[in-house]
Amino acid sequence: MGYGYHRPSTLEEALRLAGDISGSRYVAGGTDLFVQMKKGSHDPPALISLRGLNELGRIETGRRVRIGSAVPLSEVQTHPAVANRFPALVGSIATLGSRQIRNVATMGGNLCNASPAADTAPPLLIYGASVELRDAGGVREVSVVDFLHGPGQTALRPGEILIAILLDPPAEGTRSVFLRKGRVAMDLPIASVAALVEWDGAVCTSVRLAAGAVAPVPLRLERTEEMVEGTTLGSEIGRQARELAESEISPITDLRSTEDYRRHLTGVLVERAIAHLASEVA
Ligand SMILES: Cc1cc2nc3c(=O)[nH]c(=O)nc-3n(C[C@H](O)[C@H](O)[C@H](O)COP(=O)(O)OP(=O)(O)OC[C@H]3O[C@@H](n4cnc5c(N)ncnc54)[C@H](O)[C@@H]3O)c2cc1C
Repeated sequence: MGYGYHRPSTLEEALRLAGDISGSRYVAGGTDLFVQMKKGSHDPPALISLRGLNELGRIETGRRVRIGSAVPLSEVQTHPAVANRFPALVGSIATLGSRQIRNVATMGGNLCNASPAADTAPPLLIYGASVELRDAGGVREVSVVDFLHGPGQTALRPGEILIAILLDPPAEGTRSVFLRKGRVAMDLPIASVAALVEWDGAVCTSVRLAAGAVAPVPLRLERTEEMVEGTTLGSEIGRQARELAESEISPITDLRSTEDYRRHLTGVLVERAIAHLASEVA
């Protein structure tokens, strides 16, 4: 079936169009939405492109880094302030799709599509990121952990737009990494893990761990974090973290993997992430 296409140049116009055309959808890169429309899972009467909105298309770097939701992922990946401060986020983008996909796909789309396997979500969780949302009623800020509600479900209200992703830089000396395993190139991960550690000498004073594709939403592994915090990250801690992480997730069996393999893989990725971060300060 045909659909209308609109390319507003102001946020106000985009919000008005969404209010006027019931069932319309915003589109950024279209790398999720067009696939879903082709499969028939969405049949919107109109698409409202977010590409012409300046507020969504730039990266601002003050004390806080503000990434416009419609900035192509390839631009986020190569931005020096992002690369220097948020290596796990850049690592997740580097493995997302292909160069062609990253040239059009956006972080706003990755979050709003709300796949449990969305690659940018675990890094955003360990960095404590939040999102700025706007509708006709005004602007609000929501943490990424509160934004993701379930597969395809987010905190977005009807017609609301995700404007930007907001990141506070981690403390000096913080190390972070993103690891993932997929079946083949250009596929969603079977499991992914992001890890961040702050150090005081050899002791890790703060640990954040997050996993993707192994629960209805990407999630923090809080019990594992608690167990690892205050240690010196030896191999014994890595093994214990692996076992605990496996018990914190609720994977499913689907076409990409069995539940058991996802659980095993998550533990392996947590252990490897810890070994990697420990080796960086050794
Ligand atoms: C070949 C291929 C490989 C892929 N590989 C990966 C992968 O490895 N890892 C991965 O995580 N994903 C992957 N994807 C999925 C997809 O590329 C990403 O999720 C991408 O980030 C989506 O961004 P987009 O701008 O294209 O979103 P779109 O398709 O434009 O939008 C997705 C959804 O979000 C809504 N939306 C978009 N922006 C906003 C906004 N600012 N405010 C409100 N709603 C909004 C849209 O209405 C739509 O419902 C792949 C896709 C393809 C086709």
